[in-house]
Amino acid sequence: MIDWQTPFEQVLDDSKLPFARWFVGGKTNLCHNAVDRHLKDRPDQKALVYLSTETGKEGSYTFRELHAEVNRVAAMIQDLGVAKGDRVIIYMPMVPEAVIAMLACARIGAVHSVVFGGFAANSLATRIDDAKPRLMITADAGMRGGKQINYKPLVDEALSLSKHPPEKVLLFNRGLDRDMAVQAGRDMDWETLRARHMDARVEPVWLESSEPSYILYTSGTTGKPKGVQRDTGGYAVALAASMKHIYTGQAGETMFTSSDIGWVVGHSYIVYGPLLAGMTTIVYEGLPIRPDPGIWWKIVQDNQVNIMFTSPTAVRVLKKQPPEFLHKYDVSSLRSLYLAGEPLDEPTARWIAEALQVNIIDNYWQTETGWPILSSVPAVEDLPRKFGSPGFAAYGFDIKLLDERSGEEVAVNEKGVLTAVPPLPPGCLSTVWGDDTRFVNTYFSNFENVLVYSTFDWATKDEDGYYFILGRTDDVINVAGHRLGTREIEEAVSAHPNIAEVAVVGVHDEVKGQAVIAFAVVKDASKVATSEAMAQMQKEVMATVDKELGAIARPARVCFVTLLPKTRSGKLLRRSIQALAEGREAGDLTTLDDPTALEQIKAAVAAWKSGK
Ligand code: AMP
Repeated sequence: MIDWQTPFEQVLDDSKLPFARWFVGGKTNLCHNAVDRHLKDRPDQKALVYLSTETGKEGSYTFRELHAEVNRVAAMIQDLGVAKGDRVIIYMPMVPEAVIAMLACARIGAVHSVVFGGFAANSLATRIDDAKPRLMITADAGMRGGKQINYKPLVDEALSLSKHPPEKVLLFNRGLDRDMAVQAGRDMDWETLRARHMDARVEPVWLESSEPSYILYTSGTTGKPKGVQRDTGGYAVALAASMKHIYTGQAGETMFTSSDIGWVVGHSYIVYGPLLAGMTTIVYEGLPIRPDPGIWWKIVQDNQVNIMFTSPTAVRVLKKQPPEFLHKYDVSSLRSLYLAGEPLDEPTARWIAEALQVNIIDNYWQTETGWPILSSVPAVEDLPRKFGSPGFAAYGFDIKLLDERSGEEVAVNEKGVLTAVPPLPPGCLSTVWGDDTRFVNTYFSNFENVLVYSTFDWATKDEDGYYFILGRTDDVINVAGHRLGTREIEEAVSAHPNIAEVAVVGVHDEVKGQAVIAFAVVKDASKVATSEAMAQMQKEVMATVDKELGAIARPARVCFVTLLPKTRSGKLLRRSIQALAEGREAGDLTTLDDPTALEQIKAAVAAWKSGK
């Protein structure tokens, strides 16, 4: 399923656990396997179909055309000084050029790091400083729901904030931002460079299996995002295998994954997975409800989509729309719908299963793992599915549910921390970029007596072996499948000059799974003395978060208090705050310092719920 330029000598080197190296000594290339390998059997099959309901642009590339285009872009970025091992930050909207840029990096052995286009300048700068890229690839603007977001001013700001700005910026001009500022010498125009490399042929650079293919930043409990580092050979094998066994995709078929290349689902199942499998992949820029809530089903019909992958939030959004849109189009080509990124509640699963009459497969995984940890594996054994459960451990994952304190395995139906015994299977993170210690400390040091990878999720396993995910063990909030760290958001809120202190929690939300709620203490109380002043202050805090982190992390509500509940040793009682915000009991309060703080949270929640 994967071409190796040099065969591997050893399947696994687990001599330095928790570090593991897969397919040691083998040399391969992701771009070759995703593109060149298909030139023999399917040169004229569509490899990539793109459409934007934001700009109205659409088109496609056959494997032959994709090959030619990737070669051009590989030559362009080489021209800009990028070589094997160099990092390239890709900050782009969902245009085919973004996928082509990723493949071009992979072709020449450069390490791409795609940053989601919704992130603000500060977030981008943090990632630039960590990855120290040689090149940044971006576009003039993105579009969402008809609203234009100019990327270039954000990029300029990020580069001025950064301590390690790249020397060059490759700029794909979509013609959306007519007033875009261009810095001569640094900003290079995509089309001008492309014209110079129309006939370029760039041989793939063969990487040893463990050499990095990409870095993808993700949030945790600390303010600093972690660079998840992916290898090359293990990832290629894991994706090719998962396409066959879990996603049941066949060469020649079509896959539509409605994610973004900025997320791991986009990396694995918009770009590399379907292309490795010789499938046609769909790159869609737009919302599921514009121009109307039938757009996805139109895409399925027009492209004869066989496999679809989306998030529970998107399905919950569609569930609120008039049902006729689901039956307006012929979706008989569709076999299965995969959902991941956040818990799939039973009513949503049932609703979409009945509406579409296809297999609904919940799969549980993380940026770190690159492909499912828990899932049905229908092409190996098509066991019945239980709604509410992502199924069983995928092959390669030695999953154990451990008691948080003792590290012992828990009994059937008892809650434990979902862990995996190393070595992690191929495709999972090989380390945290530039920080092996952080890799070990964050993921493998949570239990004193056992060396296990912690997913930071609570789970149970029933008597039939089905797992159920109960939520995070740490302070990570999951909004519409996007992972946000409480600390990150608290730091962003605190960037407002009038905020003294803040606690951010995730609160259950009907559509998005969770919503971000901030409880803030202001320095100058007169700024929140009236309801108008409070509304103004809330607006300012939201704008500060937009600027610091991006709108994706914006709190749905900012409640103002004069005191936050803390332990006597000064630790924030975030769990209690969250419980109260969700209308539950505050839990164990024996260590609470000042009980009036809790009363304030209760009052703030009551005011919020009553719409004041
Ligand atoms: P991310 O790395 O951003 O994709 O976030 C991974 C986290 O999302 C996991 O640790 C879980 O908390 C959650 N998650 C992902 N998939 C599922 C799923 N199928 N069911 C429940 N939670 C999920």
